[in-house]
Amino acid sequence: MQMRIGGRDVAAADDRWMAVLNPATGDVVDHVPEGTIYEVDDAVRAADAAHPWWASRTARERGSVLLRGASLVRERHRDISRILTMEQGKPLRESIDEVRGFANVLEYFAGIAGTFSGEYIGLGTAGDAIVTREPLGVCGAIIPWNMPALLMSWKVAPALLAGNTVVLKPASRTPLAVSILARTLEEAGLPPSVLNVVTGKGDIVGEAIVRHPGIRKVSFTGNVETGLRVRELAAGSLKEITLELGGSDPMIVWKDADIDSAVAGAVRGRFYNAGQTCTAVKRLFVHEAIETEFLRRLHAAVEALAVGNGLDEGIDMGPLCGTTQRDEIKRVMDDFKRKGEGTILTGGEPLRGPLFDRGSFFAPTVVTDVHPESALLKKEVFGPVLPVMRVHDLDIAIEHANETTYGLGASIWTRDISIAREVFSRVQAGVVWVNRHLTLPPEIPFGGVKSSGVGRENGSQALLSYTRTKSLYVGR
Ligand code: NAD
Repeated sequence: MQMRIGGRDVAAADDRWMAVLNPATGDVVDHVPEGTIYEVDDAVRAADAAHPWWASRTARERGSVLLRGASLVRERHRDISRILTMEQGKPLRESIDEVRGFANVLEYFAGIAGTFSGEYIGLGTAGDAIVTREPLGVCGAIIPWNMPALLMSWKVAPALLAGNTVVLKPASRTPLAVSILARTLEEAGLPPSVLNVVTGKGDIVGEAIVRHPGIRKVSFTGNVETGLRVRELAAGSLKEITLELGGSDPMIVWKDADIDSAVAGAVRGRFYNAGQTCTAVKRLFVHEAIETEFLRRLHAAVEALAVGNGLDEGIDMGPLCGTTQRDEIKRVMDDFKRKGEGTILTGGEPLRGPLFDRGSFFAPTVVTDVHPESALLKKEVFGPVLPVMRVHDLDIAIEHANETTYGLGASIWTRDISIAREVFSRVQAGVVWVNRHLTLPPEIPFGGVKSSGVGRENGSQALLSYTRTKSLYVGR
């Protein structure tokens, strides 16, 4: 599959290609061009040329293009989801959720198009002022491999609705579904050059986007180290930067929680997408009064998970997105075992056998009695490993929840509203769920505190973040 720049299919200047591998089998799914700074430059020029016309449409006209795009994506969601599973590994059911989620985000932003307006400010005898909202121009979007379709929509939908044009870089591992979605939007009426996709490596294409003087804002999602690099690269310019980075979300299960629903929430919260979700449950704190029963049911539920090729029927968890990810989780678990940092209740190893040997599979893992200095509690572990710790006191649970450099999401499982309120007000996070984890509807602003990032996506604020105000003052 080629890049899409200026409404045309484009190969890389030096005709180099990158293979996209299926993490369940190791087979090549397709090839994409290994883009260079020249294609980034072409894409920025094309996006810049397309900007005046696109910006001159009303928000409702732009919204209606997003709506047609969403409807075409819904019609084609099965085919797009299959490709997503083949390049990323997640079970087909999760890919379908994600591709429908892409359409849902476009529909949400199209739905608020009518609210996109400026304001009038009366200045009495001194005059009148009107504050308008203008798009920024060409925006860069850089996304990771874990939720490519959904994260594309979080950036592209508000940017386009506000009247910007976009240069998008997908992760090298997962460029296919994103490219197909961009083409589908064009087929639905998005003018050529309004959304351009440049495939390639982060240190080449990603850095070229961040450095490019024609780009007014970069919205980046990825890990903290890369986010810091992006910020450093952009420091020499005045472009705006939003960074959606990693997380180490705590889940607190209080003594009055509904145990079955908390177990289901923990299993989905940690093992969805093989644990490769920014807001996955990465640390679980359970009240000692229910710990034994909670662990018994959790253990049974985790052992019942069907792991395999995401394209097969009835699969609950696919492989990790690649061998690098699998080997990293293996390294963390080998270290955990070597240092005797806790007890492995289930899992702890890559999966072996004819179904697994060609892919990047790791067993769903639960560990208990974890040493407070273990990497499982101190770092973001991006894979299917759930550490469970016992707590007896809410102050201590909240203290542990905050003992991380991250602050993305957190959840409290309780029937007691005062406990829920207490956790909400004291946990350092961008979103706090009560009796839920992971769900992020587009209506709710989302983003982190501490090392989890700066800026917010989703909600009406996200639309405004792709605009700047311009004031008109009419004297009397
Ligand atoms: P990553 O930082 O390695 O890559 C993200 C993107 O940045 C990719 O497209 C990559 O090619 C590009 N990139 C790499 N080096 C670059 C550079 N020097 N300059 C510019 N771009 C560069 O992240 P990843 O491993 O693909 O993604 C996983 C991380 O993303 C996890 O930490 C996860 O928590 C985080 N994440 C955060 C959110 C959120 O909304 N907060 C959502 C999903 C994932």
